[in-house]
Amino acid sequence: MTYYSDENCLFCKIIKGDIPSTKVYETETVYAFRDIEPQAPQHIIIIPKEHISSTNEINEENSALIGDVYAAAATIARIEGFADNGYRIVNNCGMDGGQTVGHIHFHLLAGRYLQWPPG
Ligand code: 5GP
Ligand code: ZN
Repeated sequence: MTYYSDENCLFCKIIKGDIPSTKVYETETVYAFRDIEPQAPQHIIIIPKEHISSTNEINEENSALIGDVYAAAATIARIEGFADNGYRIVNNCGMDGGQTVGHIHFHLLAGRYLQWPPG
């Protein structure tokens, strides 16, 4: 499968293996790896392999990839053993959302009780 990649994008470089990462799970369309600065005992980043800069760029053509991300999250939760205890999936969008990497990504957080609401 061919997907659009941005040579200047940190997460595209991680997908290609140009920057090392600890892989947790991978399918034809998504890649999941451990966050370098974990905010919970389990902190996994799930990304579509296609370079999409943020939720602002989601449309009818590419939205199935977000379904693939959530299917990956459910599978990872089972594999890693936190499906029953629960977890949180977070997508930060833009400056006010706290997005620091310009490739859409979903934080999968688990392993402790997660406060609500977030900051
Ligand atoms: P954001 O703040 O954009 O929602 O999330 C970006 C996340 O990517 C942060 O949690 C940050 O720790 C993580 N991150 C940034 N650079 C790297 C990296 O080089 N490797 C890994 N594994 N995670 C990274
Ligand atoms: Zn990218």
